[in-house]
Amino acid sequence: VTATLRALPPLPVDGEDAAGVVVVGTGAAGASAALEAAAQGADVLVISKGDGSTPWAQGGLAAVLGPDDAPELHARDTETAGAGLCDPGAVGSLVAAAPVEIRRLAALGARFDVGHLGLEGGHSRRRIVHAGGDASGAEVHRVLGTHLLRAVGAGRLRLWDDAVALDALVEAGRVCGLLVARRLGGRPHVVRIAANAVVLATGGFGHAYATTTNPAGVTGDGLALAARAGAEVADVEFVQFHPTVLWQPGRRGRRPLLTEALRGAGALIVDDTGQRVMTGVHPLADLAPRDVVSSAMAEAMAERGSDHLYLDARRVSGLEAEFPTVVAACRAAGVDPATEPVPIAPGAHYACGGVRADMDGVTSLEGLFAVGEVAATGVHGANRLASNSLTESLTLGRRVGRRLAGLRRPTRPAAGSVPAGPGVDPAGRADTADAMSRHCGVRRCATGLESLLEDLDGAGVAEGPVGLEVVEATNLHTVSVLVATAALLRTESRGCHRRSDFPSSDEGWARRSVLRVSDGRVGAALGAGA
Ligand SMILES: Cc1cc2nc3c(=O)[nH]c(=O)nc-3n(C[C@H](O)[C@H](O)[C@H](O)COP(=O)(O)OP(=O)(O)OC[C@H]3O[C@@H](n4cnc5c(N)ncnc54)[C@H](O)[C@@H]3O)c2cc1C
Repeated sequence: VTATLRALPPLPVDGEDAAGVVVVGTGAAGASAALEAAAQGADVLVISKGDGSTPWAQGGLAAVLGPDDAPELHARDTETAGAGLCDPGAVGSLVAAAPVEIRRLAALGARFDVGHLGLEGGHSRRRIVHAGGDASGAEVHRVLGTHLLRAVGAGRLRLWDDAVALDALVEAGRVCGLLVARRLGGRPHVVRIAANAVVLATGGFGHAYATTTNPAGVTGDGLALAARAGAEVADVEFVQFHPTVLWQPGRRGRRPLLTEALRGAGALIVDDTGQRVMTGVHPLADLAPRDVVSSAMAEAMAERGSDHLYLDARRVSGLEAEFPTVVAACRAAGVDPATEPVPIAPGAHYACGGVRADMDGVTSLEGLFAVGEVAATGVHGANRLASNSLTESLTLGRRVGRRLAGLRRPTRPAAGSVPAGPGVDPAGRADTADAMSRHCGVRRCATGLESLLEDLDGAGVAEGPVGLEVVEATNLHTVSVLVATAALLRTESRGCHRRSDFPSSDEGWARRSVLRVSDGRVGAALGAGA
């Protein structure tokens, strides 16, 4: 059972442009890739539709820096969280590169909290580097953004920060450019960009769900675009739900996150009677991997017929100094974490899967690269270990940039075509997200997933002018079909994919799932080993 995918409605083209490399995204992954490629002599154009998740990262960056730590321990923790699906080679190269990358970022001007390594869920050692307490992502973003603007000022790269990537231009099975709309919202100005490489660094797809920690523009555009172009998509059933997202009755969309570091500092998940939820569930209790915590919470909530639990942070010393962002978000919602337990529920947080790529960003489609959260490199397996994603985005971003060294712009205009079709009506977006949360959230079952796919198949058709809303609704629809299809296929529970009708893991399923879209239909090419 699956649903037919929709392509974006056709748009008249207003202009042509060219670049050696087009990087889509200015988060940790895109900025790193663009800066490195430009430093290595490539002709780079960076486009972005706004801020993604990077500035909001609260926890930090995982790296082996402590005297009691070792790369093997970081790799072991990553693979334990990944529940048998991590690629050990990919993990090994990430953990080896992480400390180098953090020192490099410090040399570029990042002001990390000196002499303090944090502890987070699933980590057996203190190895989380923070900046400004819980403002680590903002510091990474500030430093990379400063260097991007400097590179623009020095004429080393071009940046369009008002541009939305619509579709890859594909000619004879090779990506040879990108269709982009600038100033969407008013009349879109559509440009065909000829390029020798297109790098997707577009982040995740949290807004496929009713509640998420991701900022508004995180709508799975890069994943949908790659799938439409025919690239392989891997592991998309593994959506990580952050256990401790601030809950308020009736509030949807983006919700504030209460960082895991709070639990590292002693905060506990409790029910409305003050009983601990994680006692006896896992040896690491409240610091167990996120999939374990979210699943135990979903079970506890179902047992109590409640849609939320509580995080009791009253015992955390230095709460206001160490966690200023969290304290401010709670107080803005009318809860004071210093004096009362904070209502919480799991929310969509991180896409472990995405466009299948190797550690140099190479995808199954020539000319198309993917890096950061949009990519599925095998580092995260069935569940990402906390604070590994910024590290991955930075490290692999630079690797992709190096790979594209010296790439000049094509000498002829972009050939190639894009699929066109009826887009998805944005008016149905909230209902679709509700259905995704209900049937394809922390817990899934065949009946729910089948009815979800039927609903997705019947999604309304976009009418009227094509603006950003139609683009995002269509992309979210594509992502939802991919995630629901992969979730239905995997008849077991593993990592952050939990099936109530298949509650155990199955050794026969100790392999990655791979999907490919052809003529709007999703095909599965299962069997790729971990
Ligand atoms: C609240 C929160 C807390 C987190 N905490 C941590 C943490 O402590 N440690 C950690 O390691 N990870 C954390 N994460 C995850 C981490 O922040 C992300 O995985 C990481 O920042 C992703 O980086 P990225 O560069 O791949 O994508 P993003 O930072 O999401 O950037 C995506 C970019 O792509 C652009 N884009 C997207 N679609 C289009 C399009 N169609 N056209 C043009 N541009 C487009 C966006 O505008 C943006 O510039 C957290 C995430 C959230 C939301």
